[in-house]
Amino acid sequence: MKKKSLVLLLALAMIFTFALSACGGGSGSSEESSDAGEETAVLKVVTEATFAPFESTEDGDDTIIGFDPDMMAAIAEDQGLELEWVNMEFDSLIPALQSDQGDIICAGMNKLAGDRAEKVDFGDTYFESDLMLLVTSDSDLTGIDAVTSDMKLASQIGTTGGDMVQEMQDEGKIAAGVVLNQWTDCYLQLQNGEVQGVIVDKPVGEAYLNNHGDIAKFVGESFGDHEEFAFAVQKGNTELLEKLNAGLANIKANGKYDELVDKWFS
Ligand code: GLN
Repeated sequence: MKKKSLVLLLALAMIFTFALSACGGGSGSSEESSDAGEETAVLKVVTEATFAPFESTEDGDDTIIGFDPDMMAAIAEDQGLELEWVNMEFDSLIPALQSDQGDIICAGMNKLAGDRAEKVDFGDTYFESDLMLLVTSDSDLTGIDAVTSDMKLASQIGTTGGDMVQEMQDEGKIAAGVVLNQWTDCYLQLQNGEVQGVIVDKPVGEAYLNNHGDIAKFVGESFGDHEEFAFAVQKGNTELLEKLNAGLANIKANGKYDELVDKWFS
């Protein structure tokens, strides 16, 4: 009988030891994660920086300036985040998040457009805008409805404006919808006569006209497409999105947001 209870005792001791080491391994990994948690990961913000005054670069300098970088810097400070900015083509932005090449999109991106919200998770709206038709100052065009089927209109590839000019071409309303990588290329083609108009977001066209009001103008009313610009995170990254939304709410509440609107849009 004694032998049996000894064997049982030994077996229990072995099971207990094994269980203890298994639990010990788990806590080790949580320490690793807590160690890892102490470093603030630098979050990659992807954008397309020819979209002044939201984001642009100055001649010869890669630093991205504008309302978006300033707004995101204020949000990051409020929420204890660290950001780095990466400039790329607009139609690469959503694929960048889908392939884990970026953490946040901040690019004057309309969260209501197409199937974007199926691919990334958008935050709260931080700006509202409409599209407009920009033409040369000597143009006789009176608005988008006056465009004729022999004309060409330009806009940026992958954007709401780009989709519109391609749609107008498909419907035979214009000879060609020219979609280009950078807004600066669109303005260039307008000025050299390769296209007769550029469909652009109103605040961005206004910024262009601030410096080129002698050679270009808006014609007609805004298209009333009512865009809502928002930042976006990878699908499912609720924790980051809640931080960004909280930061946006806080800078709106403390006046920083209005200060930045005055700085970039007055
Ligand atoms: N607001 C437009 C869009 O969401 C253009 C954005 C941009 O060119 N950065 O498609």
